[in-house]
Amino acid sequence: EAITVGELANRMAERTSDVVKELMKMGMMVTQTETIDADTAELLIEEFGHKVVRVSDSDVEQVIEQAEDKASDLKPRAPIITIMGHVDHGKTSLLDAIRKTRVVAGEAGGITQHIGAYQVTTDNGSVLSFLDTPGHAAFTSMRSRGAHVTDIVVLVVAADDAVMPQTIEAINHAKAAKVPMIVAINKMDKPSANPDKVRTDLLQHEVIVEKMSGDVQDVEVSAATGAGLDKLLEAIALQAEILELKANPDRAAMGAVIEAQLDVGRGPVATVLVQNGTLRQGDIFVVGEQWGKVRALIDDKGDRVKEAGPSVPVEVLGLNGTPEAGDVLNVVDTEAQAREIADYRMKAAKDKRAAIGAATTLEQLMANAKANQSVSELPIIVKADVQGSAEAIVQAMEKIGNDEVRVRVLHSGVGAITESDIGLAEASGAPVIGFNVRANATARNVANQKGVEIRYYSVIYALVDDIKAAASGLLSNEI
Ligand code: GDP
Repeated sequence: EAITVGELANRMAERTSDVVKELMKMGMMVTQTETIDADTAELLIEEFGHKVVRVSDSDVEQVIEQAEDKASDLKPRAPIITIMGHVDHGKTSLLDAIRKTRVVAGEAGGITQHIGAYQVTTDNGSVLSFLDTPGHAAFTSMRSRGAHVTDIVVLVVAADDAVMPQTIEAINHAKAAKVPMIVAINKMDKPSANPDKVRTDLLQHEVIVEKMSGDVQDVEVSAATGAGLDKLLEAIALQAEILELKANPDRAAMGAVIEAQLDVGRGPVATVLVQNGTLRQGDIFVVGEQWGKVRALIDDKGDRVKEAGPSVPVEVLGLNGTPEAGDVLNVVDTEAQAREIADYRMKAAKDKRAAIGAATTLEQLMANAKANQSVSELPIIVKADVQGSAEAIVQAMEKIGNDEVRVRVLHSGVGAITESDIGLAEASGAPVIGFNVRANATARNVANQKGVEIRYYSVIYALVDDIKAAASGLLSNEI
C-alpha cells in the first residue's frame, strides 16, 4: 500500500509544498493527491529528519515520529499518572486529597485551578503530574486518538468493597496499554476495611502485589483522613525512577490535549500536557484539525507562565478552534504551515467519516495481522451472559493458535457490551464478541461511528470455528 503526498506531509507535520519540492529534487513530479510508494516515502521521511517505523514491507503506517533526540539531549521528566478504579472507590477523593496535601499553605490562597491536570512535589522532591479526569473511559479515548500520555496507572480499590467489575476493566485497559500499575487500597479508615481481600482478589486477575510476593506496589491509604498518601506518592516516584522517563526540553514542543472547551471570555482554551520540547508564548502550532499561536500559557495554580517543559500541564490560549481531548499538538515554523496542515487534516477527517463503517472487521484485522509479520496476536474482547461461558470462551480462544499467531483476549466480562468495551476495542483494533448478550444502544452507536465490529454468538463452537478460520488464514501451518 502506498501513501498520498498530502497524507505523508500531514503525518510528518510538514508543509505539502515542502514535501512536493523535496520530491522534485529527487526527480519526481507529483501533486498532493498522488501516491508514492513506501520506499520513496521512507527516503523522504528520513530526509525531513523524522523516524520511520514500518508496519510491513509495503506499508508506511501511522507511526511516523518526530526526529529522534540524541541521548545526550535527554533530561529526566516527571511521570504522568492516571487514577482508575471502580465507581465510588474514591478516585476523585484521592485526586482531591493529593492536591490538597501538597498545596503549600498560603500559596495562591491554597487554591489550585482545575485545568485537567496538576503537578505536586513529594517530600523527597520528586515532581509528579496527575491527570484530573479519573477512570478508564478518558484514558482509552485518548489512546484511541493516538495520545499515549499516561506513564503510570494508580488502581484504586476500596478496602471495604474489594475488586469490582470496573476494577477488572481498569486492569485490562492498563494492561492493554502496557502501562505499569500501582494499587492504592483506599478507605482504610473504615472499620469494615479488609485489605487482604483486595490483595487476594487481585491475584485472580494476575495482579500480584508486593505483599503477595509480586512486583506490583500496593499502598494502603485513606482519601478521607489523608493517611498513606505520602507513601503512595513515594511509591509512584519509585516506579517513575524505574521507568527512567526522559525528554528533550530544548526542541520545538509536542504534547497532547487533556481537555478543551470554548470559553465565553477567552475563546477556545485547551489544556495541553507537554510531552517533549518546551512550549512558549508566541509559538505557532497545529493541534488536531486546529492551529494557533500561543497568546498566553496558564499553569495549574492559575498563574501566567512564559513556557512549559516536558510533563508540565498548561492551559493554552490563542487557538483558532476547539480541539478534542487526545489531539496531538506540534509546534511548527510558520503560520502558513500550521494552517495548511490543519486544513488538510480537516478535509481528511471529513473523508474518513464518509468512508467509515469498515474499520475493524474481523477480516480486515486478519489482513492487517497477515501483512505485519511481527504482529502475531489477534486481540479480541469477549462479553458473555454468565461467568461460566466467559471463562469457557477465554479458554477456548487461548487454545487457538501456535508459535506464529495466537488469539489474545484483552478483556472478558459478564453483561451487555458497553461503551467502555467499544473504547478498548477501538484503541486496540479488536472486535467485540457478544455471547448471548447484546450491545446497549450507546455502545451500538459508538461502534457504528468508530467502525468497531461487534459479533454475536450463542454457540461456543460456532465462535471458535470463526476465529479459527480467520486465524488459519494467517498461518503457514494448520492450527
Ligand atoms: P469515585 O467514583 O471513584 O471518584 O469515588 P469518590 O471519590 O466520588 O468517592 C465515593 C464515596 O466514597 C464518596 O462518598 C467519598 O466521600 C467516599 N470516600 C472516598 N474515599 C474515602 C475514604 O478514604 N474513606 C471513606 N470513609 N470514604 C471515602
